[in-house]
Amino acid sequence: MEKRLSADHVLEVTSLSKEFSTRDSRFFALEDISFSVSEGEFVCIVGPSGCGKSTLLRIIAGLLKKDSGKVQFERKNFVRPRTSMVFQNQGLFPWKTVLQNVQFGLQMQGIAKKEREGLSIEFLNKIGLSKFIHAYPYTLSGGMRQRVAIARAFISNPEILLMDEPFGMLDAQTRIVMQEELLKLWQERKHTVLYITHDIEEAIFLGDRILVMSGRPGKFIADIEVPFDRPRSRSELLKNDAEIRNHIWDLLKDEVIKDLGESR
Ligand code: ADP
Ligand code: MG
Repeated sequence: MEKRLSADHVLEVTSLSKEFSTRDSRFFALEDISFSVSEGEFVCIVGPSGCGKSTLLRIIAGLLKKDSGKVQFERKNFVRPRTSMVFQNQGLFPWKTVLQNVQFGLQMQGIAKKEREGLSIEFLNKIGLSKFIHAYPYTLSGGMRQRVAIARAFISNPEILLMDEPFGMLDAQTRIVMQEELLKLWQERKHTVLYITHDIEEAIFLGDRILVMSGRPGKFIADIEVPFDRPRSRSELLKNDAEIRNHIWDLLKDEVIKDLGESR
């Protein structure tokens, strides 16, 4: 029988490895990754570009096969989906309206039309998109499209929300507004979130914990508790986060430089 997870863990990843082969080489994208995420926790993973962050998230989401190791979920409630993913480039259906996109996950769960539309409209009102319910994605700004993608993920109420650099394509100001909006939603709904970013400040603003990854092959090199109370204010953080920011940058800097050296 499978071992049960520790009491408050929603996800446990143990000794996960993944190898890719291309035409002329084979390489480990992930090597011996182990970590767990507790109920209601907001965990950020930071690492240099190409270190295997997306690969890790795709394996957890079941979109990609692992080579070895274990990915275990605590299955408390069989009505909820295990995971729901938000990608960097929204992943909205271009032929569906905002409302149709948002309610899609609920439709997949077999929730009746009236109920899923009601829930979706309520959520869209809450995030200020009520005027755009019947709009198609191509008519919206990048920030609005990403809000729709987030609404779609939140509303399906997964056991763990997987976010892969969801604000990576947005300009710096929009990104700040979106981060604040995401924290507000998370605080209200107490979701469990695994959030990937290469942006150290973003990880510090959002996360309870930050897992730092090395360059290829991706390994965890640190697990850092973020020492700031919630709700967080960006201005307070900016005054006080120098120490943790420098600490993470010191860990990452060598990895980035190594990676540059390898490719020259
Ligand atoms: P990150 O998200 O951290 O930037 P990825 O997980 O996308 O990194 O990729 C990790 C490494 O694996 C990169 O070097 C990438 O080029 C490589 N890679 C990703 N997917 C594949 C694949 N399907 N086949 C071969 N190599 C891949
Ligand atoms: Mg990626």
